[in-house]
Amino acid sequence: MVRLIPLVVLVLLPVLPAQTNSASSPGFDASSLDTSVEPCVDFYQFACGTWIAKNPIPPDQPVWGRFEELAERNRTTLRDILEQSSAEDPKRSAIEQKIGDYYASCMDEKGIEAKGAAPLRPELDRIARLPSKAALVDEVIRLHDIGVHALFRFDSAQDFKDSTQVIAEADQGGLGLPDRDYYLKDDPKSVETRKKYQAHVAKMFELLGAAPEKAASQAAIVIEIETALAKGSLDRVSRRDPVKVYHKMSRQQLVAIAPSFAWPKYFQGIGAPPIQSLNVAVPEFFKELDAALKKTTLDDWKTYLTWHLVHAASRLLPSTFVNENFEFYGRTLTGAQELRPRWKRCVDFADSELGEAVGRKYVDRTFGVEGKQRTLKMVEALEKALGRDIQEIPWMTPATKQQALEKLRAITNKIGYPDKWRDYSAVKIVRGDALGNHMRATEFELHRQIVKIGKPLDRTEWYMSPPTVNAYYDAQMNNINFPAGILQSPFFDKSMDDAVNFGGIGAVIGHELTHGFDDQGRQFDAKGNLQDWWTAEDAKEFQKRAGCVADQYSSYIAVDGMKVNGKLTLGENVADNGGLRIAHLALLDTLAGKPPSKIDGFTPEQRLFLNWGRVWCQNRTDEYARLLTTVDPHAPGKYRVNGALSNMPEFQKAFSCKPGQPMVRQDPCRVW
Ligand SMILES: [Zn+2]
Repeated sequence: MVRLIPLVVLVLLPVLPAQTNSASSPGFDASSLDTSVEPCVDFYQFACGTWIAKNPIPPDQPVWGRFEELAERNRTTLRDILEQSSAEDPKRSAIEQKIGDYYASCMDEKGIEAKGAAPLRPELDRIARLPSKAALVDEVIRLHDIGVHALFRFDSAQDFKDSTQVIAEADQGGLGLPDRDYYLKDDPKSVETRKKYQAHVAKMFELLGAAPEKAASQAAIVIEIETALAKGSLDRVSRRDPVKVYHKMSRQQLVAIAPSFAWPKYFQGIGAPPIQSLNVAVPEFFKELDAALKKTTLDDWKTYLTWHLVHAASRLLPSTFVNENFEFYGRTLTGAQELRPRWKRCVDFADSELGEAVGRKYVDRTFGVEGKQRTLKMVEALEKALGRDIQEIPWMTPATKQQALEKLRAITNKIGYPDKWRDYSAVKIVRGDALGNHMRATEFELHRQIVKIGKPLDRTEWYMSPPTVNAYYDAQMNNINFPAGILQSPFFDKSMDDAVNFGGIGAVIGHELTHGFDDQGRQFDAKGNLQDWWTAEDAKEFQKRAGCVADQYSSYIAVDGMKVNGKLTLGENVADNGGLRIAHLALLDTLAGKPPSKIDGFTPEQRLFLNWGRVWCQNRTDEYARLLTTVDPHAPGKYRVNGALSNMPEFQKAFSCKPGQPMVRQDPCRVW
């Protein structure tokens, strides 16, 4: 299971299960443009048209773009590492034993089929034997330990108001669908999806041995409980506001809100250090949870817990469970046509659960010193450009500018991989016990998080594994993080000129830096504390400018009639617009004094914009587009390109666009 990402980590791409067939592709290739379209009419089509036509979505994917291409290449490297590590050689290192046996166990389809649901039986029996509602707490502890997110989420987190402290955090959770909106919306599509979900839950009970009628009534119980939890959950747009998910309270206050759950017993059982206070991110959720605890019978809770257990374990159970899980979560929700080959799934599980062990081998094999040095040089150039941009913008007063510059100077950079590798020696990996390995790895991770409560913050930690094709800004650490996985073509290509790399990884660096100053990041200061450093007049001006961006993107169609949510995607769009602008500024600095020589018929500035367009080339299914429009704070690739560039006079000048053309907005938005 993917660990809960802290509330204010801002990533480049959705953090959903990675999906992803092709050989290395260069950072920029002029032959793949669609020159039948003018760049000033639809730049995305101009930059991506031919790529889009030549790269249909593979049947085992819901989306296919440049990120997925690269992730697929990384996955092939990881498979090689995992296969070599799985050879039962007595000379294997401890790390090779863990990742190799984890992978071999996952790949042992025959062994998994032969056991049937037996590996899950002890856990199912524990739930069936629960003697009373008072004993629920013991089972919730056990389920959280093994990666089953029943009822709510519990973790450690930096204190929003004192970023040096790690505190406990309880948050909404307990749902089987990707968002609370799936339970609450009444449009025909939502009703249909909910019906299919209920049918899927029933099917899973049947696979566990229930008669169809019984299974159907069990599914209805699950929906009823989850709907109650969804009603108490905060919507995604509100969750982007740190103030709305910060409610630090004493443990007595939590007990007062939700007295029906034995919190002291839970904290002790889950292995937390003594907790006096914690962040209850969404108090309203815990009130609803309490109401549900009061009115739901023990038998119904057993049904709900059984569903969440089998759901979490399904991917490592026999194929009947795996296929049924794919039918709903793959085909129905994302529009993928085929289950991904087993090796791809097992590589992803290994990366997700033993990420820094697999990642260490990956870095040894792939990541050179040159990549790190050139990236650091670009980071410096981008930071300089953002500093100048802040100094020169006309709408901010000097007092706030000074604070902004102080924050910019305090941003630290993490490139490639951690300085200190995570120690997995406590995780027992047993060859032939796929499900047990998963449960023990999950338990290790949860405990690693929970023992941090009350301890000093470790600033060296990463939330993404080294092979990940993504990047993030962490508002509480005030740092930017670039895993080795993304420091490759088409983002960074050492055979390419600076212009292409500034349009790829340069704009990505700019994007992450700008997150420190988007609608969410701007609420945190240089030390990563939730503290307002803006004058009222500057804050008002920011909101006006951000409102322009929200309105702009809200006008775009994401998929058949469903519009982009401009408020949900606001931070990412501000980051794209700002990041691109400072990447362009940094390129001009780099080019200073040199004659702007053309390559493949394009000037350096044109090549920067072309690579920005190219990194977002993608095809996606309508189903996946619908899912992302609901849950993903990023706009579709097309608008990440056309939305940002149509606001940019620098782009319009580079391609000689004229007023009135579609890529020239009449009232362009600009924050940074
Ligand atoms: Zn981002």
